[in-house]
Amino acid sequence: MVRQEQRSRVREHQKIRLRRVAMAGASYVLQALVVAAAAALGGVAWSAALIYALGLAAVVAFFFVIFLSDLNLRSAEPNLTFIQVVSPLLPAVYLLYQIESLPVRAGILLTVMVPLLYGILDLSIPRFLAAAMAYFAGYFGVFLLAGGRDLTYYDNPNEWIVLITLGVLLVQIGMIGGFISGLRGTLRRKNLQLNQAMERISNMAVRDELTGIYNRRRLIEVLQGEVARAARGDAQFSICLFDLDYFKQINDKRGHPIGDRVLSDCAAAVEGLIRNVDTFGRFGGEEFLLIMPMTNADAASIAANRLRKRIAALKFIDDEGDAFEVTVSIGVATSAADAAHETNAILRRADKALYAAKAAGRNCVKLADSTC
Ligand code: GH3
Ligand code: MG
Ligand code: MG
Repeated sequence: MVRQEQRSRVREHQKIRLRRVAMAGASYVLQALVVAAAAALGGVAWSAALIYALGLAAVVAFFFVIFLSDLNLRSAEPNLTFIQVVSPLLPAVYLLYQIESLPVRAGILLTVMVPLLYGILDLSIPRFLAAAMAYFAGYFGVFLLAGGRDLTYYDNPNEWIVLITLGVLLVQIGMIGGFISGLRGTLRRKNLQLNQAMERISNMAVRDELTGIYNRRRLIEVLQGEVARAARGDAQFSICLFDLDYFKQINDKRGHPIGDRVLSDCAAAVEGLIRNVDTFGRFGGEEFLLIMPMTNADAASIAANRLRKRIAALKFIDDEGDAFEVTVSIGVATSAADAAHETNAILRRADKALYAAKAAGRNCVKLADSTC
């Protein structure tokens, strides 16, 4: 079950990753269009624009293959964000190197920076800074290579201004990235706290505060479900209504806190013995209810007797150091004989059986509509 959940979560994440690649692809199409426009205006050679577009297409295709084949799941960082952010730099560096006109290159430089901005959404601060440095190194490489090709290049102050501006811009983007990364961390923490609080609250809504077992509200819900199933003819079920014997005397003689401890220990003892398809909870005061799906009267009676003996075997010690024991009477009712198929009807029958168990001397199990 847990495995299946994990697998579907992984599939969900892979889908999101593929969607991100598609988004990046759409953004690359825009970049390629900008470059195509520059080529049409004569600022970029068509061959360079084509190679750039093919390079971006190869990047997108590469990540589609990686995510479709689940190869990324072998990585410690299966989003592969860092390499996705940095890989379009390769065609970008090639393109920038091919553009001799500084204004055209500076304009194109703006658009090739866009993939880096996606990194803000997923990378940690150090990795984002590393990506920003890779972008700077990429353009610095273009600067050095272009200067090597034409030595007058270094004499052009505008080339230096673009390089320095890019450096300062990347530092600023890095600062904004760090800020957003901090916000993401806070959001993640708050989300976690919220989920934990939600879990606590939904637990509180179905659990009894003293014993930790299910409360009456939850028992009624489960019972209604079982009654509905039985009404469809799906399955027979049984319920056992427990009532501790002479419990008032325990409170009166040994004090309320000891009475509380008896309730908790009895609840824990029963909970440790039932099947995990059964639902056990505190029905009220010193009464408990056990709902047993797919269980006939005989099986329920055997289970009830086992639980009755378990409770009778529990040893308690009060504040004075006196040892004492507690017993329980149990009324059992089964859905088959329940013509009305109503929760109240089966509860009434269990209660009647419980009354019979009390009348028969307590510490015993009685079946509804039976004389045994
Ligand atoms: P019987 O065998 O007929 O069931 O006798 P009894 O004394 O158990 O029956 P009664 O219904 O008169 O007493 C139930 C007692 O359970 C009275 C009440 O004070 C006590 N009780 C109910 N809820 C709690 C609780 O949360 N903690 C404690 N300590 N006692 C509780
Ligand atoms: Mg009672
Ligand atoms: Mg009682």
